Amino acid sequence: MIYVDVILPLPLQNSFTYEVPSEFKAVQEGMRVVVQFGQKKFYTAIVFKIHNETPKNYRAKPIINVLDHQPIISNQQFKLWEWIANYYCCSLGDVMHSALPSVLKLSSETKLKITENDVDKSSLNDKEFLVVEALEIQKELSLNEVSKILNQKTIFSIIKSLLSKKVILLLEELNEQYKPKSVRLVSCLNKDVDFKIFKNAKKQEQVFRSFIDLTKENKTPLITVKELLEVSSSSYQTLNTLVTKGVFSIEEKEISRIEVYENEDLISFDLSDEQQNALKQIQKSFESKEVVLLHGVTSSGKTEIFIKLIQDVIARGEQVLYLLPEIALTTQIINRLRKHFGDKVGVYHSKFNNNERGEIWSEVLNANRFPIILGTRSSIFLPYQNLGLIVVDEEHESSFKQKQSSPRYNARDTAIMYAHILGAKVLLASATPSLETYHNALSQKFGLVTLSSRYGGVKMPEIDIEDIKYVTHRKQMKGAFSPHLLEEIEKSLLNKQQVILFQNRRGFAPVCSCKSCGWTAKCQSCDVSLTFHKQQQLLKCHYCGYSEHLVKKCKACASMEVQMKGYGTEKLEEELQPFFPKAIIKRLDLETTRRKNAYQTIINDFENRNIDILIGTQMLTKGLDFDHVSLVGIINADALLHFPDFRSYERSYQLMTQVAGRAGRKNKQGKVLIQTYSANHDIIHAVQRNDYLSMYHSELLERKTFKYPPYCKLLSILVSHTDYNITNQAARELALLLCQSFSQNVLGPEYPAVSRIKNRYLKNILVKIGADLSLNQSKRHILKLIDSVHKMSQYKSVRFTIDVDPQ
Ligand code: ADP
Ligand code: ZN
Ligand code: ZN
Repeated sequence: MIYVDVILPLPLQNSFTYEVPSEFKAVQEGMRVVVQFGQKKFYTAIVFKIHNETPKNYRAKPIINVLDHQPIISNQQFKLWEWIANYYCCSLGDVMHSALPSVLKLSSETKLKITENDVDKSSLNDKEFLVVEALEIQKELSLNEVSKILNQKTIFSIIKSLLSKKVILLLEELNEQYKPKSVRLVSCLNKDVDFKIFKNAKKQEQVFRSFIDLTKENKTPLITVKELLEVSSSSYQTLNTLVTKGVFSIEEKEISRIEVYENEDLISFDLSDEQQNALKQIQKSFESKEVVLLHGVTSSGKTEIFIKLIQDVIARGEQVLYLLPEIALTTQIINRLRKHFGDKVGVYHSKFNNNERGEIWSEVLNANRFPIILGTRSSIFLPYQNLGLIVVDEEHESSFKQKQSSPRYNARDTAIMYAHILGAKVLLASATPSLETYHNALSQKFGLVTLSSRYGGVKMPEIDIEDIKYVTHRKQMKGAFSPHLLEEIEKSLLNKQQVILFQNRRGFAPVCSCKSCGWTAKCQSCDVSLTFHKQQQLLKCHYCGYSEHLVKKCKACASMEVQMKGYGTEKLEEELQPFFPKAIIKRLDLETTRRKNAYQTIINDFENRNIDILIGTQMLTKGLDFDHVSLVGIINADALLHFPDFRSYERSYQLMTQVAGRAGRKNKQGKVLIQTYSANHDIIHAVQRNDYLSMYHSELLERKTFKYPPYCKLLSILVSHTDYNITNQAARELALLLCQSFSQNVLGPEYPAVSRIKNRYLKNILVKIGADLSLNQSKRHILKLIDSVHKMSQYKSVRFTIDVDPQ
């Protein structure tokens, strides 16, 4: 008998063994199969191993179907999955769940469909007949719906029988999900139509006229049904009448879901001597190192160096993955890459819908249509056939780490591991590398190449520090703005230049609070203040999405003196406008960028100088390249500096340097103004001097003294439960056990910054694993300890969430 071990897309520790019926003998490792798991659930599973060992403890069920003709996951991908599961302490199922786009993961939610074959109903039994009948009416049913129709839980044998009688489709349905999207196009059969036929048919005439207009406008004889109906504001019926009259015909045409890019003339350029030199050093470094760090100041032209490097790699017939920390950034970089690589670049990130992602997946698997993939962290999971280089841009960004769900992997580190498995190279790049990375570079683990001046001889921006403690004391602040900042803004606007104002989101969201008793509006299920959203006049929780109407009366003392505290970007915009009534001010923050293309629109508007002042949060800092920004203002540096985290100084340095880097990128030196209460802070001075190394060395010393990365590895355990006491007790129990093995290297249990989310109480324990211990063994040991607490009857429903290398 042949058996397969499969991975299910579920958080289960084990793999499961199924039997392979003879008709599915062709199954191979890396193919998808449909299996039943539990009483009535069906899943797509991935075949992990094929063997002949009968499982000892249970009777293996048969696989129901094989979905692929070729493996969709390679051995090397499996190796990566195993590494992730092992390193980040999660299951292979978790990895599979993250790695595969949903279209590739069927489950009992999947729909059944009837085959086109003439169904011989006489061969069906009563229940089967019922299902087929329902399918004839409803076209599609999910497996769950079938179970409702039959009023029984186990429908497995019925589905199987229907499948074997070839009455219904499961496999086809799955494949169909990738079917290229189609559009319906209208063409005209008779342009010189006699308008008499429209007599008494005004609506039809309107459709016809719109059609003629559109063909002229779009310069094409084919117009989509959708556009025609929209433009002529008419109904499908009217159009259909015209088809019947022989004026129009409608045809269906398949289109790709992947946006098509017309190759315009590709641009060529030359590197400056310094860039050329850096490129040579990188290539030289790759001869002996797998990973090279390119440390180049903002606007030193790192992207241009990548482009030259990528050209070489694809000329050798290899693929390139260009990783970015955020979707937002892909929009600008894609335009830059397409100028050099045209339609050779594919984009992959989570704002694409499932079908689009499925399509890119199969493009990467089957054809080499995209030798270059530009994407966010999940693009590390695409089925590359011949990956030669991974570029990790802005490598210091914490958004490379998946924080909210398992696997809590860091795409930068995962990329390094994957490249190692594949024998590919990794180029990490940043103007402000993470301490860990720079440490690896200085200790020769990574190669290091430095670019210390901006492209084109542009000077680094001049950074001024505005001591707002002093200004506030003299009562000269105008809201959040010092007179100095307002003056500089004015100057820039007069010079027809643009301004960026940066406001850190943390701690500055406007909250609703009572003037007389200090009460603040809080979320019902989380331990956080609600944030005021002016446009919608709502108070919202940013953790669980709860919202309520603005209150006018204090809920504690009934005073009417409820006010807004804090400066969100919205408030800044409102305060700033009266100073510059003619200026166009826009915001770039979570609120204004919710819709799919909103980010791009704002960025384009700013690039095209339709916006004078752009106020934004962290989103603004990430590697954007604008030509006409002469001033960058940091509204308040303190919230960054005083955030309770061992990385807060490193992060503040990175953030301020990155925002500052948006100023004066082309032609002229830019100016940066940092408003702060801590004008004498070392970090602020390091930013001012553009002195990464002094920040690095002083921080490294702190890390060594207090034992933090890179001098140890961190593993955090979040303990959570709906009951306050149980949470505390379980956390204490676990901490005690951990202390026995790791003594003073266990921190906590402590309340995290937000100690209750969605009605669950949270407690955090941090374990430092020193270089003297085996990381792997320590993790296994910690898992065992957690398991032993979990097994105690009173803690059965406590949740333990492990995060390795928390960010
Ligand atoms: P970084 O990524 O290091 O911050 P960029 O790659 O964005 O810097 O480069 C800064 C600016 O200089 C960009 O507008 C870029 O187009 C321009 N630039 C850099 N190198 C060259 C080059 N060799 N030729 C022409 N323009 C360049
Ligand atoms: Zn009150
Ligand atoms: Zn909440």
